[in-house]
Amino acid sequence: MINPEELTQKVKKIICQDTQRKYYRFRATKFYGGCATADCLGCNLRCAYCWAQKKVWNPKIYGNFYKPTEVSEKLLQFHQPLVRISGGEPTICRNHLIEVINLIPKHILFVLETNGILLDEDYIIQLSNLGNLYIRVSLKGVDQKSFEKITGAEGIFFEKQLKALQLLNKYNIKNRPAILADLFTEQAIQKLNMPNLEYESLIDYPFVSKALKKRGITLPIK
Ligand code: SF4
Repeated sequence: MINPEELTQKVKKIICQDTQRKYYRFRATKFYGGCATADCLGCNLRCAYCWAQKKVWNPKIYGNFYKPTEVSEKLLQFHQPLVRISGGEPTICRNHLIEVINLIPKHILFVLETNGILLDEDYIIQLSNLGNLYIRVSLKGVDQKSFEKITGAEGIFFEKQLKALQLLNKYNIKNRPAILADLFTEQAIQKLNMPNLEYESLIDYPFVSKALKKRGITLPIK
């Protein structure tokens, strides 16, 4: 079973260098009505359905290091109303992330897509001072048991996802939880009691079906 905090430390050594971080792609996407996207490498979970796993889980062999100024310049050159960091887990190289957010002009919304596991109170206070930020926390389960099945990580870390959402509300950072609705029963999702929960759909690539099967996951998870 993975301990996401220990995995974070291992991954950090590969993807964070001073204030630089490894990315594998910069692109303009149609998400959120037009969004410049930087796809980062490295994650502290191992979700069975991860569509980016080939690259995100192998940061040694993919991508290049970029300084915060290089990332912000690349994002801004797409001239989109929103920017975001996606791909892997953006919160891992904290100093890098803070600098990138600071470099984005405040009239542009910065979307941070995260699993929320590293977002403790200290991190969230730092983010709360940065301005135009929207944080989307992707829930990886409906409870500890389903979280373990999906992520391969200790179930107790599901509570960190929930805690991050509470703290984001406490410090008035715009946020929304999201969940892959195909994975769970509607009844189980409703038990989360999150009226603003955003439903996502599973991208059913053949390698995703294979990975779910390999983990013994049949849908919906019960
Ligand atoms: S948290 Fe996201 S990037 Fe990390 S393994 Fe899960 S789906 Fe992939």
